[in-house]
Amino acid sequence: MTDFHDESFEVVLAAGRDRSVRRRHPWLLASAVARVADGIPVGALVRVVSSEGEVLGFGHYAPGSKLRVRLLSFGKDAPADDLVAQRIATAVTRREADPALAGTDAVRLVNAEGDGLPGLVADRYGDVVCVRITASGMIARRDAIADALREATGAASGFERADPVAARREGFEARTGVLWGAEPAERLEIREGERRYGVDVRGGQKTGFYLDQRDARDLVQRLAPGRRTLDLFAYTGGFAVAAACGGAAHVTAVESSERALALAGENLAANGRNADLDLQRADAFKFLRGVDRDYDLIVIDPPPMARTRRDVDRASRAYKDLLMFGLRRAAPGAYILAFACSHHVGPGLFRKIAFGASLDANRTAQVLAVLGAPIDHPASIDHLEGSYLTGLLLRA
Ligand code: SAH
Repeated sequence: MTDFHDESFEVVLAAGRDRSVRRRHPWLLASAVARVADGIPVGALVRVVSSEGEVLGFGHYAPGSKLRVRLLSFGKDAPADDLVAQRIATAVTRREADPALAGTDAVRLVNAEGDGLPGLVADRYGDVVCVRITASGMIARRDAIADALREATGAASGFERADPVAARREGFEARTGVLWGAEPAERLEIREGERRYGVDVRGGQKTGFYLDQRDARDLVQRLAPGRRTLDLFAYTGGFAVAAACGGAAHVTAVESSERALALAGENLAANGRNADLDLQRADAFKFLRGVDRDYDLIVIDPPPMARTRRDVDRASRAYKDLLMFGLRRAAPGAYILAFACSHHVGPGLFRKIAFGASLDANRTAQVLAVLGAPIDHPASIDHLEGSYLTGLLLRA
């Protein structure tokens, strides 16, 4: 694997700004940097040095980003040239060896910082690997990453999905297209246990499917028998299909994107269960306020609402609204699964929000479980921000 590293590529920290690197945090903020050597190419491997000259670690340089260096290794020794390829191979091997993933052919192979690869996500859908890159350092190594993924997986094709928001933030060119092999089919078929889903890797959200909700889908399937189910923010019907497969009496799926809802319809049909179905293209907030029937299983899985700390108050009010109206529509004994996908809203805060909602709804509830992302979405213990998904299982 080619890498570009030169002894002269050095980033010197401001005095007293070495704490986060010493604590192995993978993000070095621009504000902590005092000096940068001239002529370092975008994405190059740089040495991070304290103001006293101590070498603290190595990482990818992103001159256009507030996250000026994404650290890949700590300590004074430069990492091997093929560090990224080695970590990709390790990440893939770990998924292959994981018995908890045996029942599915759709797996997150690389989970960015969680696998020591900041800015790189790779998801496997059967014979296709779909890659999303959010950091300049990984963009600069795109070809080597493709080679490493192809070699580690033996997958027939690799496809890259652009992340335009990250591209703008970092100043690289967003690109969507084939990395190796043939262009993926418009619909890829994946299986999760007995569930079948069509995935649109070329035009769907993120890499096409929310792999991070697999465990919660399993749970919904187990909780569903006989239940009138409401799947809010349904996307392509991940939870709706799980409920139908589990024997729900009825499934209402609410989603604002027409394209996603169409695929939810296909997915429900393909799983051939005879739940009574109701697909609604609607704003989930408005739907919940207006609906007058009750449900026994309610899933609330909104898009990220607190991308930064400044958004937390507004997001908290939105989550509270959803939970309050959800509790009002919950039949006695109903299960409610509610999710927040932002590390700014962790389990403690989310539980407080749910409590506030229960007071406003004048309905008490039991907390049955706190949920998170599945085993193929590891977070590094060094990186609190990597734990972004919080779920609560409540019983009304
Ligand atoms: N539950 C899904 C993932 C949900 S992602 C799964 O497991 O696959 C959030 C979804 O909410 C997206 O599909 C997005 O299109 C949709 N969405 C965003 N705002 C919405 C709104 N106000 N009302 C309904 N759907 C919305």
